[in-house]
Amino acid sequence: MKIHHIGIAVGSLAAARPVFEELLGKPPESIEVVEEQKVRVAMYRVGESRLELLEATCEDSPLARSLAKRGQGLHHIALVVEDLAGTLRKLESAGVRLIDREPHHGAGNEQVAFLHPASAAGVLIELVEEK
Ligand code: ZN
Repeated sequence: MKIHHIGIAVGSLAAARPVFEELLGKPPESIEVVEEQKVRVAMYRVGESRLELLEATCEDSPLARSLAKRGQGLHHIALVVEDLAGTLRKLESAGVRLIDREPHHGAGNEQVAFLHPASAAGVLIELVEEK
């Protein structure tokens, strides 16, 4: 298992990017809108992992609600799994609370699903099946 990326919620990509780009010494490897989640994502490669800066694309984005409630900061940790659908079934039968019972499209068009923070010590966990 490895950490695919760490998600950081920001109020504005334009405001947050310069600091991270100074820190990491490079531009993002991609910037894209993930329509399903109503977010715009800037992904920075850091070794075998990544930092993902997320901004909401509209006011009814789940991320906009999270920002209003908790403000900017660490948002989720994404772990790589080999068989996402199978992993979700296994976790669910073990009593883990899921946000997504089925995989859906995330950044980089990879299959992703979120677990409920109530089941993971208050941490929002994203599972990613790499292409
Ligand atoms: Zn993510």
